[in-house]
Amino acid sequence: MKKLLFITTAIIAFAFIGCIKKGILDNDTIIILPRESWNAIEPKEYKKHKPNKITIHHEGTYFPQDSLAFRHIKNIQIWGMRERKWADVPYHFFIDGFGNIIEGRDIFTVGETNTSYDPTGHILISIIGEYHKKQKLNEAQYKSLIKLIEYLRKRFEIKCDEIRGHRDYCKPGETDCPGDNIYELIISNKIKNQLRDCNN
Ligand SMILES: [Zn+2]
Repeated sequence: MKKLLFITTAIIAFAFIGCIKKGILDNDTIIILPRESWNAIEPKEYKKHKPNKITIHHEGTYFPQDSLAFRHIKNIQIWGMRERKWADVPYHFFIDGFGNIIEGRDIFTVGETNTSYDPTGHILISIIGEYHKKQKLNEAQYKSLIKLIEYLRKRFEIKCDEIRGHRDYCKPGETDCPGDNIYELIISNKIKNQLRDCNN
């Protein structure tokens, strides 16, 4: 049994390594790296919801776009569960600097926030890094964000107008999230214009 477990883990690990630095494979394939890729621990009890919105975040602290983020995500989980008493990592998906899409918490559960809005119904996507003053989305991240949004829209029938940034739900000045460099892509409709049937 132990040997079988080892072999299965080795195969999964090998598959991950293949995707890690290449990012997403092609236009029609979406690869979401599972929680096992960052060695997630079991979550606490979740509050359930039905996803009907997509809300884009940045993580808010500088993280190099040429570094793997698995250990970093694991640290967010440990910190959030210990210090904030969260059930798990706060977001449903992460996108790293290579454009890898990484699974966060269970999509049918309400995310967490440090601000005053109610994230019930929101699918939270977090781009790892600081996109207000310090970093800009690179091509791989942008493509993965569009691909993930398209996939989620299809899966949950999310309306074009329900794709927004974190600050759209907060009091003025409460948060810079998802950072001006990402927010500009949302309010200028650059993201929406890439999506099927969302053209203005
Ligand atoms: Zn945010």
